[in-house]
Amino acid sequence: ETVIDAHNLSKIYDENTIPVYALNKVHLHISRGEFTAIKGPSGSGKTTLLNMIGGLDIPSEGFVEINGTNITELRGNKLIDFRLNNIGFVFQSYNLIPVLTAKENIEFIMLLQKRPKQETEQRVLELLKQIGLEDKINKRPRELSGGQQQRVAVARALAPKPQFILADEPTANLDSVSAENLLDMMLKLNEEENMTFVFSTHDQRVINRARRVITLEDGKMVSDTAPTTIVHEK
Ligand code: ADP
Ligand code: ADP
Repeated sequence: ETVIDAHNLSKIYDENTIPVYALNKVHLHISRGEFTAIKGPSGSGKTTLLNMIGGLDIPSEGFVEINGTNITELRGNKLIDFRLNNIGFVFQSYNLIPVLTAKENIEFIMLLQKRPKQETEQRVLELLKQIGLEDKINKRPRELSGGQQQRVAVARALAPKPQFILADEPTANLDSVSAENLLDMMLKLNEEENMTFVFSTHDQRVINRARRVITLEDGKMVSDTAPTTIVHEK
């Protein structure tokens, strides 16, 4: 089952002077249950690609389909609603809301979506257990380590059961032990929830644990290992 289909994606900056191809004719097809790393040197287009797939930026050429919806044609509230309901975002700087507890951060999007209270409550408790932070339920971000904050950020992204999780350098601010723990957790969620993960990274240890690795260079996709994903039944 196809989750992400990017067709002939290009992003060109400085169109009036010297054109810079931040992305150059990239085709990308990602199926449900994949665990895919995007690697490449700084400036190779990783963030640009993730932003296009996540509907945070508009390509100069080509288009992106998420579960059959062409998101490149969506604008305004339609795009915002689509993102909220379908895509989970994780950033390198965690981006948790400082005044909210771990629990409140995780349930935030579900409350915005006006999901039933009981469903939300249950989902948050289940996620806190999965990320191993049940005992931190009422802690605010500053009372948690970087690794713990990032685990809460992943749980927040997962809470509304998006089609996939996009993570831009999720381990960039973590020490190696915390990075390893975060990867363990993401792989467990990939297996237990069949959640699709796409993440960019510089970190070779993180790359080693991906099931598919896509390499960008100067905006071009220069290699793509075959996915060795076990696609789990729902
Ligand atoms: P990466 O995430 O791999 O470091 P980026 O996607 O951030 O790469 O950048 C790809 C290329 O696009 C780089 O050459 C960068 O300088 C250029 N670029 C990114 N954003 C902009 C922008 N807003 N304006 C002009 N050039 C940009
Ligand atoms: P990190 O917190 O660096 O990501 P872990 O989350 O794996 O690493 O934490 C390792 C152990 O140390 C866990 O049992 C965790 O609960 C505990 N721990 C780490 N940081 C803190 C903290 N700030 N307060 C309480 N316990 C912590």
